[in-house]
Amino acid sequence: MVTVVVISCLALSPLFTLNLRLTQLRHIIVRMRNRFSRKLRALDRRRREIRLFARAMESKQHPILAQIIPIRRCNLACSYCNEYDAVSKPVHIDEMLRRIDRLGEFGTTIITLSGGEPMLHPQCDEMIRRIRAVGAMATVITNGYLLTPARIGALNDAGLDYLQISIDNVQPDDTSKKSLKVLDRKLEWLAEYSEFAVTINTVLGADVRNPEDALTIARRARSLGFNSTVGILHDGTGQTKPLPPIQIQTYNQIRKLETSVFSFSHFDRFQTKLVQGLPNEWHCRAGSRFLYICEDGLVHYCSQQRGHPGTPLASYTRDDLEREFNTEKACAPNCSISCVHQVAMLDEVREHPREMLVELIARRRETNPSFHLPLPLRAAEWAFLENPKRAETFRRAAAAVLRK
Ligand code: SF4
Ligand code: SF4
Repeated sequence: MVTVVVISCLALSPLFTLNLRLTQLRHIIVRMRNRFSRKLRALDRRRREIRLFARAMESKQHPILAQIIPIRRCNLACSYCNEYDAVSKPVHIDEMLRRIDRLGEFGTTIITLSGGEPMLHPQCDEMIRRIRAVGAMATVITNGYLLTPARIGALNDAGLDYLQISIDNVQPDDTSKKSLKVLDRKLEWLAEYSEFAVTINTVLGADVRNPEDALTIARRARSLGFNSTVGILHDGTGQTKPLPPIQIQTYNQIRKLETSVFSFSHFDRFQTKLVQGLPNEWHCRAGSRFLYICEDGLVHYCSQQRGHPGTPLASYTRDDLEREFNTEKACAPNCSISCVHQVAMLDEVREHPREMLVELIARRRETNPSFHLPLPLRAAEWAFLENPKRAETFRRAAAAVLRK
């Protein structure tokens, strides 16, 4: 009997081997197909980014970034957070689609679904589709807990452009469960299946217990091919305290990890001052170039300045956009809301392109003294910095080409 079993196993073993090889081959083909379609999506995203960037440069009449809340409920309860509850129902999909359409009418460049946890909304994908249909780039900010390969595939199909996950620590603690230990498998799935760009945000702040975690998380993000950013924890009004010296060191190490020349992390003079406890002199354009739309459909300056202006989006007008573009915000000097800083920097690029290019090059060299300008920047330096007449000709030509 034993002999018969052994002989049958030996006879079948080439078949097992063949089957194993076919399975491996299938995996390789699926991986290659994923990689190819990710590249195609990245190219398409880049093309739309360039067009939208050109529009943002051309006019100051429309919002660049709008954060919209489809549900205030969250499946976590981070102790520092004031942007969630445990009971709210999702906003009705018809209402959400109306709000997205309104943002589309304003010509909003990027629309971000935030929360609470936006993926708790049962029609999250439908909203992403609508964002793309109104011509905006679609972003989701999530805690990542609900991500699975199937969910990532559905986000691909819906046309998501960017996904941002904030990871607060390596091991979960009583402040936050957004931890690398819990989320690492999800990050691997994202690396394997996502066709959208992924950014991992880490945090530093005077109250952060293990600041060295931020560096571990940023390194892990880079190793998986994601972007990484670092946020400074703010209080309930969006204001920050200076970082202790050890955290400033960590902050600088994370900045050095960034390889893309055009990343905002090289460019973020706001954060560089905030970590030292110094105020920034800038004009916050919240309520105009940046909008925060809460679950009740009201427009606020940002998540930390609710009630200003507190007008329903349905009755928000271009006059409101213009008024808020010019309104000084008293909370600006110590504000740590980095997405609003980034929007303000785009406006600075529009108004002072030459100075911003000089600053971008200088700041890149600050983190890496042996940095050599890549070809596009060398071309930009030659076209825009060396001769004012040549710069004006190239500025006009670039505007005409980008407008097409
Ligand atoms: S996961 Fe995000 S929304 Fe939820 S409690 Fe934490 S910080 Fe707030
Ligand atoms: S400066 Fe602008 S973004 Fe910052 S807290 Fe104030 S209103 Fe919000």
